[in-house]
Amino acid sequence: MWRWTEIDATLSPLLTAPRNKECLMTFIAVRCPHCQSEQIVKRGKTGCGTQRYLCQNTTCATGSFLLDYRYLGRLPAVKHQIIDMSLNASGVGDTARVLRISTDTVLRELRKKEAALESVNTAFLRTHNPDDMAVAIERAGEDAEMDEMWSFVGNKGNPRWLWHAIDHQTGAVLAYVFGRRKDAVFLQLKALLEPFGLTRFYTDHWGAYERHLDPDMHSPGKRNTQKIERKHLTLRTRIKRLVRKTICFSKSIQMHDIVIGLFVNRYAFGLLV
Ligand SMILES: [Zn+2]
Repeated sequence: MWRWTEIDATLSPLLTAPRNKECLMTFIAVRCPHCQSEQIVKRGKTGCGTQRYLCQNTTCATGSFLLDYRYLGRLPAVKHQIIDMSLNASGVGDTARVLRISTDTVLRELRKKEAALESVNTAFLRTHNPDDMAVAIERAGEDAEMDEMWSFVGNKGNPRWLWHAIDHQTGAVLAYVFGRRKDAVFLQLKALLEPFGLTRFYTDHWGAYERHLDPDMHSPGKRNTQKIERKHLTLRTRIKRLVRKTICFSKSIQMHDIVIGLFVNRYAFGLLV
């Protein structure tokens, strides 16, 4: 019992009657948001009284910076987290709350990525012999029973499907497009792959393929896409899951396409996005 009394006596002055402000201060090391250097000096204040800092690392290109939650969205680490969270199917609102930034900042960072997205796996196609490649074309979320749940953006009358051409042998994603009509989608994929000299397509019996492919380039149903080895399914399974989740929160086609596109660019094409 006497132990409790002793602890009370020690704690109470600190908790209830701090002698001055300093008792409650917490010290956080100020780091440069760009180079992470701790060689920082104060450099005046902004018009609204926020402390301004200057990085003294001579190799760092940044000028002065502010350390304030209102500016969290400008930190490179936070920008990376915005993308990482989106690629793990966090909605715009979830990402904003977790990172303590505005939804506008989340949307702005995602939009910035749009211009850098690539539709074709150029690195793979340049390093592989087109004669050894056979293209299979798939729609993400092919499983019919899932269609009703996810295949729309904003409302059910607005389906948005991801189609991807994969190398039949390796399961590598070669190119992707978004679209609804098989003919249009197929012609787009074909145009994307043509510069790489691809000549063989393994498909099902959809009319689009038969209409747009020379019979000698086309082997309908000859080798079913399901026969691709199990180990190659992981990425496509992840894409399908993301497509499903992304559509649930996505209010705009643009955001939907950017998030899925980023995922394919990073995980299927191996690009640094
Ligand atoms: Zn710096």
